[in-house]
Amino acid sequence: MECISDLWMVIFSPFAKLLFMRIAIYPGSFDPLTNGHLDVVQRAAKLFDQVIVAVAKNEDKRPLFTLKQRYELVKQAVQHLPNVEADMFDGLLVAYVEKRAGQAVIRGLRAVSDFEFEFQMALMNRKLNERIETIFMMPKDTYTFLSSRIVKEIARLGGDVGAFVPVHVQAALAIKLKKI
Ligand code: ADP
Repeated sequence: MECISDLWMVIFSPFAKLLFMRIAIYPGSFDPLTNGHLDVVQRAAKLFDQVIVAVAKNEDKRPLFTLKQRYELVKQAVQHLPNVEADMFDGLLVAYVEKRAGQAVIRGLRAVSDFEFEFQMALMNRKLNERIETIFMMPKDTYTFLSSRIVKEIARLGGDVGAFVPVHVQAALAIKLKKI
């Protein structure tokens, strides 16, 4: 009898694991990924079985890096985290979350200035799909002033962004800005 139940566990447990996995999607432009983004990813990875960092196409934001480049930079930054993967998406976030069987959307909150927009987005996404929860996470206080926009501005003006982004992102910024 015990043998049958052991066999059942061996067959069933990988499916059960998949079925009950808590998956969070962290969407954003990531143009480019900063240490602030990474801080949020690392916090989320402790709470969820799997975190998918989903790079949004967001062409209307006129990104400095192409979708593929932003994705590659994220992929390299999270490769040391076993339960984190990078992906790209276009279109409605809730549709993407459904496609990836996610339960939650992660967003970072730096200051009150982020709140109004994020609050509106979260409520709209809830209207579109009641099942998906938005979870806000605060980064380490030293990253609360950090944004991709500021990093690009400093890099453009020749400043050192080494403290704000991973080394490979710093190198990509230098190459990209030389070409412009
Ligand atoms: P989006 O265009 O979707 O705002 P971003 O790449 O600018 O994309 O940001 C993605 C998410 O990461 C947003 O929720 C944003 O508030 C959050 N975020 C950005 N920078 C930081 C940071 N320094 N610390 C924590 N969260 C951040």
